[in-house]
Amino acid sequence: MLVDGYRRSLKDLRISVTDRCNFRCTYCMPLDEYEWIDKREILTFEEIARLANLFVGLGVEKIRLTGGEPLVRQNLDQLVAKLSVIDGLQDLCLTTNGALLGEKIDALRDAGLKRINVSVDTLDPEKFKRMTKRGDLKKVLEGIFAAKDRGVQRIKLNAVVERGVNDDDIIPLVQFSRNNGFAIRFIEYMDVGNANNWTSAKLLSKKEIIEKIAARFPLKEIGRDQGSAPSVDYEFLDGRGDLGVIASVTEPFCSSCTRVRLTADGKIVTCLFSQTGHDVKALLRGGASDQEITEFLRSIWKVRKDRYSAERLEALRTSNYDPKSHKKIEMISLGG
Ligand code: SAM
Ligand code: SF4
Ligand code: SF4
Repeated sequence: MLVDGYRRSLKDLRISVTDRCNFRCTYCMPLDEYEWIDKREILTFEEIARLANLFVGLGVEKIRLTGGEPLVRQNLDQLVAKLSVIDGLQDLCLTTNGALLGEKIDALRDAGLKRINVSVDTLDPEKFKRMTKRGDLKKVLEGIFAAKDRGVQRIKLNAVVERGVNDDDIIPLVQFSRNNGFAIRFIEYMDVGNANNWTSAKLLSKKEIIEKIAARFPLKEIGRDQGSAPSVDYEFLDGRGDLGVIASVTEPFCSSCTRVRLTADGKIVTCLFSQTGHDVKALLRGGASDQEITEFLRSIWKVRKDRYSAERLEALRTSNYDPKSHKKIEMISLGG
């Protein structure tokens, strides 16, 4: 079995299909100096599908399509159709801001997509516009309900929580998800990319998030799915659904991290906080065989020793953490 430098296997592949986005969320979008990836450098669906097949051959069980905003990539359903039939792939999921979901859901579902995560951080239309800079909450909600109406069984909402910005939206979001049968995951605010001015003062910890919810809706912890999922899950004691918290900052899960990322321009990245990636596009476009590419992927994973969030927690504990000391790849080119 393929394992990395800390004996972690390779199970999840996150594919960023574009770095473009129709929102400008303040916690994610880089500043003006960011250079958008040139269109010619973006992998084609055939190239992505070829790599996905090779990754599944190396042990990948789950694929998540992300971005930037994946639905701004034209005809994404054609990629879904290619990935949903890969032999051995157990799960294919899309993470989206939901703005274009209403108009694209039929084609996506027909192509084989069964699972969708939609990011929504507040149910207050004005605040939603402020946080996303240009998003229209009404369209996002229409998209979520369109997916539900078309029979998408597993819809999950994702909410990043920023202290002083949307911590008072936690309870309304929980109520909304319980009332409508959606699962919800709260995400601790992270220092992704280089431009979001992250400080630990803006972080609302998992502990605080759970205390807030449990005071209103009693909960029981059920742990991590298969021991390695990023989110710690809870169920409501009244039996009306479940929720989770992704505590990358206060309870890092690097020791069980089985994720690899593929950027839209063909870089393999082994950690959300990596400074650089490994260029696989040169091999794809240079005529390499499947075996050569597989060897390349294997050689990257074998030496992987990433544990950024664990190191950050150690540094935060000694008040010795400067998020700007380490230049990272931007979240929009990596996917979440
Ligand atoms: N555009 C899509 C969306 O927003 O769902 C997919 C890409 S987005 C980069 C993936 C996820 O990363 C979203 O759920 C988003 O909320 C999350 N994210 C972005 N910046 C973050 C930050 N600073 N801390 C925690 N999560 C973040
Ligand atoms: Fe776009 Fe998603 Fe980043 Fe918001 S979180 S700016 S929707 S990529
Ligand atoms: Fe995985 Fe890197 Fe996140 Fe740790 S910080 S869980 S190694 S992606």
